[in-house]
Amino acid sequence: MNKKGILVVVSGFSGAGKGTLMKMLMENYDNYSLSISATTRAPREGEVNGKDYFFVTKEEFQRMINNDELLEYAQYVDNYYGTPRSYVESELEKGKDVILEIEIQGALSIHGRYPDSLLIFVTPPSAKELKRRLINRGTETEENIKKRLNRAAQEAVGVENYDYILINDDLNESLERLHKLIQDQHMRVCHQLDFISDMSKQLRTLE
Ligand code: 5GP
Repeated sequence: MNKKGILVVVSGFSGAGKGTLMKMLMENYDNYSLSISATTRAPREGEVNGKDYFFVTKEEFQRMINNDELLEYAQYVDNYYGTPRSYVESELEKGKDVILEIEIQGALSIHGRYPDSLLIFVTPPSAKELKRRLINRGTETEENIKKRLNRAAQEAVGVENYDYILINDDLNESLERLHKLIQDQHMRVCHQLDFISDMSKQLRTLE
């Protein structure tokens, strides 16, 4: 069996339901590790430092960039977001499938570094539904919702670089689909090369 875990990048329009989906993935299955990003954005009500994000100052974020502590980082709306490197690398070594919930610039940069990563783009079934979810969430100001809808329109531009689009209509159905996509990725040749090479060695030594 393949020993190293798979790096799974999940992106999607703000309000697509990614956060809920990731939470369900962690609660329902064992082999996933969710990376916690660093951000310069202020915590929303109920968000906990070290659980939802590492909330840092711009100076601290810059220090992390300078020390090469981030696997990738990007600016989103008015703030910076980045993936701490050490957690991702050590979880992959342990054989965990590591989930990064990040926006598109970061996703593409990860794909450049880890060509065997799996890129999944989550979207609500329609633009109207996306706006409705953003408003219902009640965490964003009207101005911020406008910015996020604008950004969403731009994000659709790079979507052809993803492996799969997941239309999140029903959460339970999406959860099963997502889990299956990740499990299927383990069977791809790029993740089974060690297995095949061991097998070849054994075949040569068989009487
Ligand atoms: P939010 O402010 O809604 O928590 O996140 C805004 C956007 O930043 C979302 O699209 C989210 O996926 C993305 N994001 C969160 N963490 C990271 C990260 O570490 N790197 C990048 N590139 N994007 C991130």
